Amino acid sequence: MQVETKRRNPKMSEPTLYSTLLIDGQLVAGEGLVEAIINPASGEVLTAIAEASLEQVEAAVQAAHRAFVGWSRTTPAQRATALLAIADAIEQNAEQLARLESLNCGKPLHLARQDDIPATADVFRFFAGAVRCQQGQLAGEYVPGHTSMVRRDPVGVVASIAPWNYPLMMAAWKIAPALAAGNTLVFKPSEHTPLSILALAPALAQILPPGVLNIVCGGGEGVGSQLVGHPRVRMVSLTGDIVTGQKILQSAARTLKRTHLELGGKAPVIVCNDADIEAVVEGIRTHGYYNAGQDCTAACRIYAQAGIHDRLVRELGDAVASISFARKKDSDNEIGPLISARQRDRVASFVERALGQPHIERVTGAAAHSGAGFYYQPTLLAGCKQSDEIVQREVFGPVVTVTRFDQLSQAVDWANDSEYGLASSVWTQNLDKAMQVAGRLQYGCTWINTHFMLASEMPHGGLKRSGYGKDLSSDSLQDYSVVRHIMARHGQQLD
Ligand code: NAD
Repeated sequence: MQVETKRRNPKMSEPTLYSTLLIDGQLVAGEGLVEAIINPASGEVLTAIAEASLEQVEAAVQAAHRAFVGWSRTTPAQRATALLAIADAIEQNAEQLARLESLNCGKPLHLARQDDIPATADVFRFFAGAVRCQQGQLAGEYVPGHTSMVRRDPVGVVASIAPWNYPLMMAAWKIAPALAAGNTLVFKPSEHTPLSILALAPALAQILPPGVLNIVCGGGEGVGSQLVGHPRVRMVSLTGDIVTGQKILQSAARTLKRTHLELGGKAPVIVCNDADIEAVVEGIRTHGYYNAGQDCTAACRIYAQAGIHDRLVRELGDAVASISFARKKDSDNEIGPLISARQRDRVASFVERALGQPHIERVTGAAAHSGAGFYYQPTLLAGCKQSDEIVQREVFGPVVTVTRFDQLSQAVDWANDSEYGLASSVWTQNLDKAMQVAGRLQYGCTWINTHFMLASEMPHGGLKRSGYGKDLSSDSLQDYSVVRHIMARHGQQLD
């Protein structure tokens, strides 16, 4: 199969075409339900998107199935060429994509420009390189007279289902490794945030052969579950809620599909007496509230050792109260709103129940913003106990709790006493202590004296109910491929 970039600088669609799906290489209007797309920063309707109909989802899966034969036989170099072209297209259209990401999620435009767009392009570039230098077991004669070798082959048609917190970045995490490994895809963005990936669809249609990547919009129970139940889909990859992961597992069991689940998080942050408190305050102010806390790795569950507890609560409270949001000038804002009124109300109800407990103290925040949009004040709650709902459950909003501890082993036990297992951090100036704690934490990632930092080269994914399977890194290429053993029996020995 010839894989080449058909145009050097693929241009994206005009605003009126943001609503076209990508099916079998064609940009087509949806024929299903029409859903309003809201700007969470104002609460106003941005546009309306017609979702994919049952027939269109079927057409997308069949197109991916047909395209698999050709795409799975391309060389890593050919696939890398396509991924590099996608990265270039993202950069060439960076301003428009950032603007859509900002409008659709409400996040500050300068942050979408500075963080989301470069990180998205980097993921495509990483997988373009990684697929060309994969490593594995040596070929050899493990049975006399027979040579064995191992292949890694693509799985088939992958249905990828994404959340709303970082629409383009999550699309890249799902699309890039799956395409690099030789799979074909049907990608479904969140029903709340389809605009940026739909705007990129014309460029994708120019870069990739028809059917290799299809994009369909729609809700989870409709389009999502049709994809998960489809017999031609061989693998389902989800980033989303634990309950969604459970539903997908149940449905995928019927056809024994491979699954890749990146679910929620409730990251513990252990702060020892010997930590650099200024760095902790700055780190949590940034990484506990980034994206209004709508991040599965958000530094949201602090365990503070008794010697620094009061100072940390006081200084962090002041710092959190200074986080700017809902200001007219974009560059004045550090965080955006919650994605919807429903999500804001859900966050508010968590905080309300927490403050109904006499031992929990409001340090700052704890109210919805009174102006337009779905903003919630950056909130810090102290005096929380391990068994409190606000310590145990994912809030997915700008809410951080503090729990006091005396012995470090107690903090590690509490940190591990969670259904979640995605991300964690420990803050201390004693490296021996940091390494011991990092070794005992049951989380997919542990940061030392920082939090939230991601690298395309490093695996990201959870343990326990945070799911399984890795995004980013060459581990992800393995998740999107299957190991096969090829064994050849030899004829007579030469001598
Ligand atoms: P969600 O589970 O409601 O939705 C995620 C996606 O799943 C959406 O596209 C939705 O349409 C789809 N979906 C819902 N029900 C479905 C069904 N029955 N069948 C098929 N598809 C279905 O999650 P959300 O509210 O969009 O995102 C927030 C959640 O995502 C949080 O729990 C957060 O922690 C998690 N998350 C995890 C990671 C990670 O890397 N682990 C990253 C980002 C977000």
